[in-house]
Amino acid sequence: MHIYKILYEEAKAKGIMMPNHNFELDYIQDLKRFIDECNRKTELAERRLDLNSEDRESLTNITTEMDELDTKIAFTTQEIQMLSRKGDLDKAVQVSKILKTYVGQRSKVARNYSIMLENINQSAQQKLQVCRDCGAYLSKLDNDRRLVEHFTGKIHLGYVEMRSTLQELKSKYEKTN
Ligand SMILES: [Zn+2]
Repeated sequence: MHIYKILYEEAKAKGIMMPNHNFELDYIQDLKRFIDECNRKTELAERRLDLNSEDRESLTNITTEMDELDTKIAFTTQEIQMLSRKGDLDKAVQVSKILKTYVGQRSKVARNYSIMLENINQSAQQKLQVCRDCGAYLSKLDNDRRLVEHFTGKIHLGYVEMRSTLQELKSKYEKTN
């Protein structure tokens, strides 16, 4: 723990007025820096989780792409049947080349779709969330014991304490100013 923190807590416990007000102001700055850093980390961690919803968006896009190709394939197949019935075989062969491209595209997209689905399932299984106090990843599937371990852990409690001390000091200086 930070040396200022230890000095400050000790002085507070003994009811000693801090000799220098600047000390507490320095301490506020230190706490702010720590907590800002932590908040940035939390924000980044949450943004990384957001990638999963981006994945979901890509999945929707790829599904739309597959649907569009299915429609094209259906229309092209109908066209080939119609041309064959009319006896326009040259045209039918031409259109069937187009159909072949569509079918090739369709299987490529389907392959990407299943890869994407697998990745999304993996991250969905983890069901992660970010701790708002310390910025650590938490699994929503963790059992109570593991969650208790996190919330009673040194790092988590350290941040909780720094946050409340910062609030305390801030309101104190807001009152006096
Ligand atoms: Zn935490």
